[in-house]
Amino acid sequence: TDSYPEIKRDSRFSQITKEHVDYFKELLGKESALVDGVTAGATEDDLEPFNSDWMRKYRGHCRLVLKPASTEEVSKILKYCNENTLAVVPQGGNTGLVGGSVPVFDEIVVSTSRMNQIRFFDEVSGVLVADAGVVLEVADQYLAEKGYIFPLDLGAKGSCHIGGNVSTNAGGLRLLRYGSLHGTVLGIEAVLPNGTILDDLSRLRKNNTGYDLKQLFIGGEGTIGMITAVSIHCPQRSKAINVAFLGLESYEKLQQTFKEAKTQLGEILSAFELMDSQSQDIFHKVKENKRPLEGEHPFYCLIETSGSNSEHDSEKLEKFLEDVMTKELVTDGVVAENETQLRSLWSQREGITETIGHWGGVYKYDVSIPIKDMYKLVEDTRKRLEDAGLKGESDEYPVVDVVGYGHMGDSNLHLNIAVRRYDKEVEAALEPFVYEWISERNGSISAEHGLGIAKKKYIGYSRNETTVGLMKQIKNLYDPNGIMNPYKYI
Ligand code: FAD
Repeated sequence: TDSYPEIKRDSRFSQITKEHVDYFKELLGKESALVDGVTAGATEDDLEPFNSDWMRKYRGHCRLVLKPASTEEVSKILKYCNENTLAVVPQGGNTGLVGGSVPVFDEIVVSTSRMNQIRFFDEVSGVLVADAGVVLEVADQYLAEKGYIFPLDLGAKGSCHIGGNVSTNAGGLRLLRYGSLHGTVLGIEAVLPNGTILDDLSRLRKNNTGYDLKQLFIGGEGTIGMITAVSIHCPQRSKAINVAFLGLESYEKLQQTFKEAKTQLGEILSAFELMDSQSQDIFHKVKENKRPLEGEHPFYCLIETSGSNSEHDSEKLEKFLEDVMTKELVTDGVVAENETQLRSLWSQREGITETIGHWGGVYKYDVSIPIKDMYKLVEDTRKRLEDAGLKGESDEYPVVDVVGYGHMGDSNLHLNIAVRRYDKEVEAALEPFVYEWISERNGSISAEHGLGIAKKKYIGYSRNETTVGLMKQIKNLYDPNGIMNPYKYI
C-alpha cells in the first residue's frame, strides 16, 4: 500500500462530528444509505471497499460513506459539506486506475451506487439519459434490447458507473469506431460544490450556444462537481460482429497490418488491439487455459469488425486475412466462429488487466505516443529494469515482467510492470524516466485513465504552465473551498 508521506492533511477541512453525521442520517433517511464508522460502528472491513482502490495500491481513511438516491440529495450533501468545509470524494464503481476514486485522508465518500435509473431513451435518435450510477454493462444490455449500443466498452464494464466513465473520460475498446465521450456525451446534470444543480442535460447533437461547460466535467475526475446524470448519443448496434486473433513477428509488421486493416476493412473496423507475448504469457500462466494459436508469437492483435451485413463483412475480413498472410505480415491467425469463441478471443485482451497483478502488484502507465515509437517504450523500460538488476525469475527480484498491450488503433499503450511487491527502487527506476521518455516524443502521460493521485506530480510533462494555470483558475471558480476530491491532480 502506498502511503503519502509528502502530503499533509489540509487543516482547513473539518473533522467529521456526530452533528454532521446526524444531519446526513436525517437527510438520507435509510440506514443502508450510509456506511457510518463515526457514530454507528461500521468497521474497517465495512469501509474497506470504499477506502481501497481496484489495484489495492491506494488507501484512504474515510469513516463515512454517503449513498444519495437523487440529485436533490447530492445537492444537499454538497451544500452542507461546503458550508462545513468537509472534504468529499465522488465515487462510482471504484475501478479507476490512478487512485482518484478513494480518499487520501478522511474525506467523505459520496457514492453513486443508489442512483441507478435509466431516465429516458429515444428509439429514433438513440439518445439515452441515465443516472450517473447506472453500471456500464447494465446500460449496454438495456440498449441491446432496443438494437442500440453504448458507445463505450471496457474490461471493468460489470462494475464501473457511467458517471465514473464520463468523469474519467474513459476511452476503452470502441473509441476507434465511435470516438471519445467528448463527442458522444450530449449533456450532463451535475451538482456544484455549493449545491447548485447544473442542468445541462441536452439531448441535442448540435448546440452551439456559448461555452460548452459539460466538457469540463468530462475527464474532470470529480474535482469541480459531481455528475448526477448523463445524456449520451448511442449508435445502432451492429448485427454482424467478427473477431480475428492474429500472431505476428514484429512491431513493424503489426503497424503494417494496422494500416492494411484500415484500408481494407474501412468502415467496418471497430477495434484493433495490441498485445505483446509477455502479456499473453502472464494471462495464460494465471488462467491456465489453452492458447488460441499454436506456438508463441512476439506480438498479437485482435481485430473486430462490426457491420450490418454478415456475409459482406465475413467476405471482407477473409480477403483481408488472406492478403496479410500472403504478404507475410501475419504469421498465424484464427477467426471466431461463434459467440463463445468471440468472447473467448476478447478475453485474451480484456483479461490482461486483471491477471497482471497476480504476483502482488503492478505499476501502470497508460500513455499516448506516436504509433511508430509506441512499443519502444516497453523495450526501453524492460532493458532499464534488467540493467538495474530489478527483474528476474526468483522472489529476490521485485519485477516479474514488463508488458505492453493496448488500443493500437488509438496510439494508446498500456505499459505495465508486474511486480512481486511495491518497491522504492523500482519506482525510482521508472519515474521520471517513463514520463521524460514520453514528453520527449510529445506524447501524453495519461491517455485514458486520468491523473488522480498517481500522476499528480507529473502533469507538467504533458501540459504547459499556462494550461495548468487556467485549470487552477477554473478549479477555484467552481470550488473555492477546495472540498471536491482534494489532494489529487489539481
Ligand atoms: P471511479 O473509479 O469510482 O472514479 C473514477 C474518478 O471519477 C475518480 O476521480 C472519482 O472521484 C470520479 N468520479 C466517479 N464518479 C463521479 C461522478 N458521478 N461525478 C464526478 N466525479 C466522479 N479506462 C479506460 O479509459 N479504458 C479502458 O479500456 C479501461 N479498462 C479498464 C479495465 C479494468 C479491468 C479496470 C479495472 C479499469 C479500466 N479502466 C479503463 C479505468 C477506468 O477509468 C474505469 O474503469 C472507469 O472509467 C471508472 O469508472 P468508475 O465508475 O469505476 O469510477
